[in-house]
Amino acid sequence: MKVLKFGGTSVGSVESIKNVKNILAGREGKKLLVLSAMSGVTNKLVEITDLIKVKDHSAIATIISELKNKHEETIDALINDATLNADAGSFVNDVLTTLKSLTLNEYSEGVYAEVVTTGETMLTYIFSTFLTQQGIQNNFLNAKDFMHVSNLENPDTELVGELFQKSISQLEPTEVYITQGFVRIDSNNSINTLKRGGSDYSATILAAAVKADEVQIWTDIDGFHNNDPRYVENTHAIAELSFEEASELAYFGAKILHPQTISPVIKRQIPLFLKNTFTPDLPGTRISDEIHSRGLKAISAKDGITAIKIKSNRMLMAHGFLKKIFEVFDKYETAIDMITTSEIAISLTIDSDRNLDQILEELNDYGEITVEKEHSIICIVGEGLIEDKSTSRLFELLNDIPVRMISYGGSNNNISLLVASKHKIQTLQGLNQKLFEHQETPQFV
Ligand code: ADP
Ligand code: ASP
Ligand code: MG
Repeated sequence: MKVLKFGGTSVGSVESIKNVKNILAGREGKKLLVLSAMSGVTNKLVEITDLIKVKDHSAIATIISELKNKHEETIDALINDATLNADAGSFVNDVLTTLKSLTLNEYSEGVYAEVVTTGETMLTYIFSTFLTQQGIQNNFLNAKDFMHVSNLENPDTELVGELFQKSISQLEPTEVYITQGFVRIDSNNSINTLKRGGSDYSATILAAAVKADEVQIWTDIDGFHNNDPRYVENTHAIAELSFEEASELAYFGAKILHPQTISPVIKRQIPLFLKNTFTPDLPGTRISDEIHSRGLKAISAKDGITAIKIKSNRMLMAHGFLKKIFEVFDKYETAIDMITTSEIAISLTIDSDRNLDQILEELNDYGEITVEKEHSIICIVGEGLIEDKSTSRLFELLNDIPVRMISYGGSNNNISLLVASKHKIQTLQGLNQKLFEHQETPQFV
C-alpha cells in the first residue's frame, strides 16, 4: 500500500481535483488517499469558531452559505450522474446542517475541533463520489474510526493500524481508499485535530500504521526548496534530504511539512516523496535515509519564539542550577528549542507562551529574568554542515543583522540563529546570498 496525501490547493478547484484523479489513474497498486479540505475552507471554519465566541449567528450563517455554494458548485462541475450528484449534495447538506447546530453551543476546544475538521469530511466524500462516477472503485473511510491519537508527539501507530484493518475488513476490497487528514480522536474519545497543516502528519501516521511502502505528499510546489520561497527569490527544489534534515527543517518552520510529519516514518524507514500536483512529472524531493549528498542543504525559519534570559550570580560554579531551571519548563510542559550559557546567565527559547506567566513566576526565584517576544529561529541544515567551510560566510552576516543567540555544534547537521522576527526576511535573504549564491561544491576540511 502507498499513502498519497493531497493538500488544500491540490483539491482546491475543479481543475485540480481532476488533476488528482489523473495522478491516481496513472498509478498501479493499492493506494490510501489522505485529503485536506479545499483551500481556504479551514480558514473560514476557524472564522466560524471565532464568531461562536461572540455569538454572531448572522455572520456564521453567511459563511455557512458561502461554504454550501462552494461545495455545491464543485459537485455540479464534477459529477453529472444525477444519482451520484444528489447523493454528494445531500451528504454536504447534512454536514452543514450539523455544523450549523454545533455553532449554537458555547465555544469549547471540542466545538472548535468539530467545526474546523468538517472541510475534510465534505471534500473527501465529494472526491470519492467523483471517482466512483469516473469508474474508479474506491472505499470512503471515516478517519474518526481509526485515527485514535492520544499522544500528539508519539502516536500509537500499532493501535491506528489495528483499527484501520478492522474498518476495512468489513468492506469489499478496492485499489483506492479515501480518508480525511487533520482529524483525530484524543484520549477523552473526543474529536480533536493534529493542529493546522496536520494532514501531512495524518499521512505519515497512517503510513506507519499500515506499514506502507512509501508516502507521497502532493502539494503546490515542486519539492522541498533550499529556502522559504515566500520570502526569498530564486530558491530551488532539493533532490534528496535525509529524515534528520527534513525533520529539523519541518520542526523549524518549513511550511511545506507539518512539524511532526517525519517522526512516524523514520521508525519504519518509509521513504517520503514531495511532489507537485500541477507538474507531476518533475522528480520532486525524496526523503529517506539513503542519501548521497552532504553539506549545506536548506534554511528555514520558525516564528513566535520567546527568548528568556536568567541572570544569576549564584550560577557561578553551581552544579544543579540548570537542572532546577529545566524542571520549571518540564512542570509546565513547555519545550525548549535553543540554549546558550555564560558563567552568569543562561538564555533559552520557547515556542509556546501558553504557561509563560507561571514559568516566569517560578524562575524569579533563580535570578533576574528578561523576556523578549516576537523572535524567529533561523535554522541552517545539512548533513556534515559544520565541516563545510563555506558556512563560515554566515558570520559575515552578523555585521548587518543583530543576532540574539547562536547554536553551533549541537549536532553536525544544524546551525541555528535567533533574530528578532522583524529581521527574519532580511536574514533569510542575506543567508541565501552568502551561502547559496556563492556556493561551489561543499569544501570539507
Ligand atoms: P498544502 O496545502 O498542500 O499542505 P502548504 O501551503 O501547507 O500546502 O505547503 C506548501 C507551501 O509551503 C508552498 O507553496 C510554499 O509557499 C511553502 N514553503 C515554505 N517553505 C518551503 C520550502 N522550504 N520548500 C517548499 N515550500 C515551502
Ligand atoms: N485543512 C487543515 C488546515 O488547513 C489541515 C491541512 O490542510 O493539512 O490546517
Ligand atoms: Mg500543508
